[in-house]
Amino acid sequence: MTILCYHAVDPDWTSPMSVAPEYFAAQCAWLARRRAVVPLSESLSRLDSSGRLPRATAALTFDDGFRSVYDHALPVLSRHGLPATVFLVAQTLTTAGQGVDWVDTPPTYELKTLDMDQVKEMQAAGVSFESHSYSHADLTALSFEDCVRDLRDSRELLETLLGHPVTLLAYPRGRHNESVRAAAQRAGYTHAFTLPEAKEAPGPYAVPRVGLYRGNSLTGLRVKSARPYLTLRTGLPYELLRRGRRATAGVHR
Ligand SMILES: [Zn+2]
Repeated sequence: MTILCYHAVDPDWTSPMSVAPEYFAAQCAWLARRRAVVPLSESLSRLDSSGRLPRATAALTFDDGFRSVYDHALPVLSRHGLPATVFLVAQTLTTAGQGVDWVDTPPTYELKTLDMDQVKEMQAAGVSFESHSYSHADLTALSFEDCVRDLRDSRELLETLLGHPVTLLAYPRGRHNESVRAAAQRAGYTHAFTLPEAKEAPGPYAVPRVGLYRGNSLTGLRVKSARPYLTLRTGLPYELLRRGRRATAGVHR
């Protein structure tokens, strides 16, 4: 199994980024029955050299901190006792705030993000929160210094608001390059998560996740969460992986 990535769970937003609540509920019921869903922080020590978790294990993550995760995902997660991690855009939690200006296919109504009361309630229910950058900029378009500043500002603000160290980062849109990975390390993160669209080598600053999108069926979940799927996406030959960590040590960055 692997680390799964959702965005919104919204009945009205018909975007690939928004899984319908009934699909989400069915996927969680299946995961609760068939898989060991572990907290993301716990999963990190169990990743193999290709960024995969042990067989039949999964971790759940949500990018962007959409309000719909509070409205439609939290009740389902709580019902099944499933741990999850939400990656927040720090600026959305400032007094000035930030509207959702980073989605390609917005609905006709305003997309809302979580407020601190909801974050605290979710924390109390066992959901953990980490960083999705400060302003959801394309980090690959920033200079190294600006990238470090954005990621550090996010970490420091979230640590103040959440009251615990923030060490995990999900790159906006999963986009990263060598400079962005170095900036994430410089800004104080221990791991950063991607959404590979093409073959890419995994490492602590490129931990692959598999995105789940609107319309993905239970079969889709099974296929996407299988170990060979991630192997295909990260471009590492399965036979090489089976020979263990030493054989693949060279792929780390
Ligand atoms: Zn995002």
